[in-house]
Amino acid sequence: EGSGHPIWVSQIPVPWSPEMLKGKRVIVTGASTGIGEEMAYHLARMGSHILITARTESKLQKVVERCRELGAASAQYISGTMEDMAFAEHVVKEAQTSLGGLDMLILNHVGTSYFGYFDGDVGHVRKLLEINFLSYVAMTVSALPMLKESEGSIVVVSSMAGKVGFPFTVPYSATKFALDGFFSSLRQEFHIQNINVSITLCILGFIDTDRALRAAADVLLVPPAPRAECALEILKGGALRRRELYYRYGSTRLPLLLRDCAAELLDRLVRSRYRLDRIGTG
Ligand code: NDP
Repeated sequence: EGSGHPIWVSQIPVPWSPEMLKGKRVIVTGASTGIGEEMAYHLARMGSHILITARTESKLQKVVERCRELGAASAQYISGTMEDMAFAEHVVKEAQTSLGGLDMLILNHVGTSYFGYFDGDVGHVRKLLEINFLSYVAMTVSALPMLKESEGSIVVVSSMAGKVGFPFTVPYSATKFALDGFFSSLRQEFHIQNINVSITLCILGFIDTDRALRAAADVLLVPPAPRAECALEILKGGALRRRELYYRYGSTRLPLLLRDCAAELLDRLVRSRYRLDRIGTG
C-alpha cells in the first residue's frame, strides 16, 4: 500500500443509517402484500423513489397511496405477472423512463405453490421456476446497465429452504436453490470484472406474512418472526452491500453452521420442526 493509509481503514464496517436510501430509486417486486409491502413502507419513510409491482392492481394502488402519505419521494406501481418475461423487462424499462435510472433492485415476489408432499407435477415446477427464478434473471439482465451506472445493488429474497433441504415445499425449494447458484456465481464475475454492483442474498426463516401463516402455522413448531422487522433488515443488508443476510440470525445462520460438519443431524433437526400428522398426503 503506497497510499500511506493503513489498509484496514477501508474495511471498517459502515454503520447503517436510513439516510442511505433517501432519494434512491428502488424497484420492489411482490410488494402488494407481505414482506414486499413492508419494504415499500420503510422505503417511503426513508424518502426513496419507489416503483412497486405485483399482479393485483387494487392492492398496489393502496400501497402506493400509503407510501405517498408516509413521505416517499415518489411512488408508482405497474401490475402484471412475472410468468411473462416481457413484463419483467417492462418493469425495469419503466424505471429508466420515469425515474431516469435505478439504484436498487429488490427481487422478492413468489408464485403460489402448495404445502405438502411433492405431487409429481413437472409443469408446476417449470411454472414456478419461471416466476421465482427466470423473471429474477430477466430483471437483473435488463437492470444491469442502470445498476452499473449508479453502482447500485441487487437484493434477492430467498429462504432457509434455498440453503437446506426442507420437506413439503419441493418445487419452491428448487427455485430458491437456483437463485443461490445464479447470483453467487454472478457475484464472483462482478468481482473479477470490477463491476461495482452488490448482490445481497437474503436467507429468511419463518415470517408472519398472511401467506406463510396460512400455509404453515398449523404445521411448523417454530414461532414466526415479524414481517416489518424482517423488511427493515433486508433493506439494511442491501444498503450496506452485504453478501448474505440472515433473518433471524439464530434460527437461520446458526443451523447452517451445522450443515457442513453434521448434515444428517441438521436434516433430522429440520424434520423435527414439523407436525407430520397434520400433513395431507395429497
Ligand atoms: P406474499 O405471498 O405475502 O407476497 C408475494 C408477493 O408476490 C405478492 O405481492 C404477490 O402479489 C406477488 N406475486 C405472486 N404471484 C405473482 C406473479 N405470478 N407475478 C407477479 N407477482 C406475483 O409472500 P411473503 O411476503 O411471505 O414472501 C416474500 C418473499 O420472502 C418471497 O420471496 C418468499 O419466498 C420469501 N420468504 C418468506 C418466508 C415467510 O415465512 N413468509 C420465509 C422465507 C422466505 P399478487 O398476488 O398480487 O401478484
